[in-house]
Amino acid sequence: MVENKKIFIEIDPNAGFCFGVTNSIKKTEELLKDKDEIYVIGELVHNEEELSRLMKLGMKKISHNDIVSLKNKEIIIRAHGEPPSTYEKLKDSNATIYDFTCPIVLLLQKKISLVTDKMLQMNGQVVIYGLKNHPEVIGLMGHANNIGVVVENLEQAMQLPLDKPIALFSQTTKDREGFEEIKEYFETQLSKRNIHFESYATMCKIVAKRAPALQKFAKEHDFLIFVSGKDSSNGKYLYKIAKTANPNTLFVSELKEIDKIVIPSEIKSIGISGATSTPLSLIELIKERLETRLNR
Ligand code: SF4
Repeated sequence: MVENKKIFIEIDPNAGFCFGVTNSIKKTEELLKDKDEIYVIGELVHNEEELSRLMKLGMKKISHNDIVSLKNKEIIIRAHGEPPSTYEKLKDSNATIYDFTCPIVLLLQKKISLVTDKMLQMNGQVVIYGLKNHPEVIGLMGHANNIGVVVENLEQAMQLPLDKPIALFSQTTKDREGFEEIKEYFETQLSKRNIHFESYATMCKIVAKRAPALQKFAKEHDFLIFVSGKDSSNGKYLYKIAKTANPNTLFVSELKEIDKIVIPSEIKSIGISGATSTPLSLIELIKERLETRLNR
């Protein structure tokens, strides 16, 4: 008789929302207890299932363009934060603002505003290492008062003219390696020209700590399922880390995808992890579904 060996399935102990996202979800849930509807600009969290759960409770997603037509409404600012222009629009619409900007992002915005004032006096510029269309970066650029430039990688940084002082920052969810490359480039090139340069490694420590832990977790398993919303910048970054550590890593964003996954017969252990915006409840459901499929 051939023994049917069970596959060991484990959830990454570090998986689940970061505190910035947990905080914004908890506060939204609290508000929805005694309100029929509440508006949020953009996606509160980059996770389709979590969004639809909150929408069933009365959360409504709006775009920046909708603010003008929504008078006297209650509107949430999500963890990524917003540029000052959004607060002005909300004020004009007489909105009640619930500001759930993550405290780490808030500190970064304040730092950028301060350094921007200094750079304006030096005729310099603020460079942000991040994704151009990411909501956090759009918010940060608003605090850089028209002297901000976004670079997504070293190649883009190398296109910038080297004729004025630079202050370099990072989007909170970007990687240290990319930041260090750009920092080193500016440091070398500007010091040759005797031009002022300063840098602030403003990556979120919560994300930074998660990367080495995920690397270790990915190596400990034969197969890794990484759960994240398709638009999560942190999800893309952590997935890359996991995939490099273990090429048998699969990106999954919805529970139903689990039924289509083909697990090679030699696999003995599966790890499940996710982005800082992936709910632990979804990861648990995925584990349950896998157990039912594979270990019946
Ligand atoms: S990843 Fe860090 S900065 Fe971003 S929301 Fe979470 S705790 Fe805040």
